Amino acid sequence: MSVPLVDGFGRVHRDLRISVTDRCNFRCTYCMPEEGMQWMPRGELLSYEELARVAGVMVERFGFDSIRLTGGEPTIRAHLPVLVRKLSELRVPGADGGPDRPIDLALTTNGATLRTVAHDLADAGLRRINISCDSLRRDRFQAMTKRDELDAVLDGIDAAIEAGLDPVKLNVVAMRGVNEDELVDFAVFGREKGITVRFIEFMPLDAQQAWTNDQVLTQAEILDTIGAVFPLEPVDRPGYRGSDPAERFRYLDGGGEIGVIPSVTHAFCATCDRVRLTAEGELRSCLFALDAHDLRGPLRAGAGDDELAAIVEGAVAAKWAGHQINQAVFIRPTKSMSQIGG
Ligand code: SAM
Repeated sequence: MSVPLVDGFGRVHRDLRISVTDRCNFRCTYCMPEEGMQWMPRGELLSYEELARVAGVMVERFGFDSIRLTGGEPTIRAHLPVLVRKLSELRVPGADGGPDRPIDLALTTNGATLRTVAHDLADAGLRRINISCDSLRRDRFQAMTKRDELDAVLDGIDAAIEAGLDPVKLNVVAMRGVNEDELVDFAVFGREKGITVRFIEFMPLDAQQAWTNDQVLTQAEILDTIGAVFPLEPVDRPGYRGSDPAERFRYLDGGGEIGVIPSVTHAFCATCDRVRLTAEGELRSCLFALDAHDLRGPLRAGAGDDELAAIVEGAVAAKWAGHQINQAVFIRPTKSMSQIGG
């Protein structure tokens, strides 16, 4: 029997984001500087056994049913399929003594190495995947990522589809003055490939702290631009979106759907069901949390599951109502998206 992990605002937590590394093979300009990032020493990262141990507590004690691996770039950590297999073997306890069930295991990646690992990941039990790509133009892609890897990423998308990962979704950070002229190109790309493209509002989590509000391409602007070419309607009735960060919109002509993650203009904190585990074993109850709860120390000191579970409960009990971006009281976390796990 698992016990729901509820915070002070009545939100039940079931979704764990695990960062497997703070390192990345790209240098996306809105995420980290080209030079000078300080990587975590390898010995300070949780081992795959330690990550699986924490995940096991979350699933078995608290009924977590969804785990997403991220980073940094998760595919550059050696033998990632080994971790995927360990996590895919976790079973979510059934409600009221009913049968247990598998967890929903997903990965967020920049896609550059997927041609070599997509099949191994799928064989190890990965179900679905989000691939990030912010430009379909080679020069711009290189300028944004500091890597000439657009072809590898596009090939990685095909590799993920061929490996049977389902759904394959494409994440695009939409930024004014950077890639706003590609919104319709991305819509066309998604329609042709049969995949959902999700546009993410730019958040104040860049390592260089250069974020300004006017760089945020808003959900309203994204929908207006794409809807003018391919008319759209909301998929969910107002108030029925659940804990999905993306608001979904379908093309009226039946060409599939897009998502928008409006973290800045329409925050979804009220329905947040996530906790995050950083690569070095900090539990964070929000991407923007200013406090972190160390699990690595207790893990390496031989803590039992009860002790780990108590730390998790304490972290979630203290979770705040929301991140307050755009309000005078907002304070940026000192860590960037790549260090926390996006
Ligand atoms: N390396 C993997 C990838 O590229 O997907 C996983 C980590 S990355 C930090 C996860 C996602 O966060 C990517 O889609 C990336 O574009 C997005 N991201 C990074 N910094 C962001 C920011 N400041 N605002 C919005 N999204 C951001």
